[in-house]
Amino acid sequence: MSFESLGLAPALLRALAEIGYATPTSIQIEAIPLAMAGHDLLGGAQTGTGKTAAFALPMLHRLSTTAVAGAPRKIRCLILTPTRELAVQVHDSIRTYGKHAKLASTVIYGGAGMNPQLDTLRRGVDILVATPGRLIDHLERGSVQLRDVEMLILDEADRMLDMGFMPAIKRILNKLPATRQTLLFSATFEDAIKKLAMEFMRNPREVQVAARNTVAETVTHIAHPVDGARKRDLLIDILSQRYQDQILVFGKTKHGCNRLAEQLEKSGIKAVAIHGNKSQSQRLKALGDFKSGKARVLVATDVAARGLDIPQLPLVINFDLPMVAEDYVHRIGRTGRAGASGEAISLVSPDEAGLLRAIHRVLKQDIAMTVVEGYAPSRQIRMGNDSASNGRPSGQRTPSRRTPHTAAAPRHAQAHAGAKTHPAADRRERRAVNAPRPVR
Ligand code: AMP
Repeated sequence: MSFESLGLAPALLRALAEIGYATPTSIQIEAIPLAMAGHDLLGGAQTGTGKTAAFALPMLHRLSTTAVAGAPRKIRCLILTPTRELAVQVHDSIRTYGKHAKLASTVIYGGAGMNPQLDTLRRGVDILVATPGRLIDHLERGSVQLRDVEMLILDEADRMLDMGFMPAIKRILNKLPATRQTLLFSATFEDAIKKLAMEFMRNPREVQVAARNTVAETVTHIAHPVDGARKRDLLIDILSQRYQDQILVFGKTKHGCNRLAEQLEKSGIKAVAIHGNKSQSQRLKALGDFKSGKARVLVATDVAARGLDIPQLPLVINFDLPMVAEDYVHRIGRTGRAGASGEAISLVSPDEAGLLRAIHRVLKQDIAMTVVEGYAPSRQIRMGNDSASNGRPSGQRTPSRRTPHTAAAPRHAQAHAGAKTHPAADRRERRAVNAPRPVR
């Protein structure tokens, strides 16, 4: 299968060739023909599968092949995303894929000045990428007209419908022509959300590249039981061992993420935090520092990290478990991409046992639970009627991660000094440390 055989416009094929996309990904192969045929589409795909191109390419194809030369520009495609970062990222992708397509696009989101957005909108665009709140502001001012929209695309739709955006989405939907085509993409589909989505879609076709609520098969999951107060030390130990990797760490609160990033910095680990309280430019700078390797650790809240395109991430650490179990799926969507192996490590305090159980239910699998020596929690972590972990599971124990007591001590010391060991040795040790053991 090639992009040519999908029948995409030459201007798009040229852009794809320039950026080096040789073949379409599974979600692209499934979604693009259906979208090009004009169907409404419910797309289930994790971040990292190429879902942005799966909706952007058929949209750019439709708009560019039906454009009327010389006609004034009007908004023909509206793309809604839940976060500013995702809006910027989607817009960047559209510019990349559509660079030879002679279409104008812009992105509008809260937290940025109104005037530049008003200027661009006044000049006219074909494609508008927006977060719901800021779009409502523009609708109220009359600076955006949606009566000519032919395509509506909702990215990370479950989050938008789930997290309080529904009233805004309904107001926006009321302004759109009923005849439009709707594409809805999401990593997970809870039944209630799917039902809601069906209300505003017409006979949608469904495409799914991973089974419902499943996560990349190439990802190894592991949970370390540990008291909340000791999580930071354990995290620093793990980071010290994994000094060659860039790591995304998830925290629960904005304040907690900030504090953790500061504490990591104090321990000599370059870290940046990204969350909703940071300004747009601060968030983009933090992401840029992480992407360029200036920062080795990115500490993020779920909302801020959602949909961010962070390539080749070998490890995601859940410093706090997510309050909503489905977010676990989103979080680890950042690792194990495109067949690369990845790891997801969760630090689980006794208070979080219920959250871990909820994650097991969503995953339909239990996460291996191993205790790191020296970090056994003071209370049992109860995982079910007949199983528990108090940090003393039967059978083999995890090798210690603590510096003073183990054979790994010199490596830790080197790690802090920035020295490197042989990658193969590093991999061997990692396998030993993370050998999964199922929770009964
Ligand atoms: P997404 O799931 O849209 O966030 O895409 C994940 C990553 O895959 C992005 O870095 C894209 O640039 C890249 N990508 C998307 N489609 C392809 C493709 N057909 N070939 C190679 N890379 C791709």
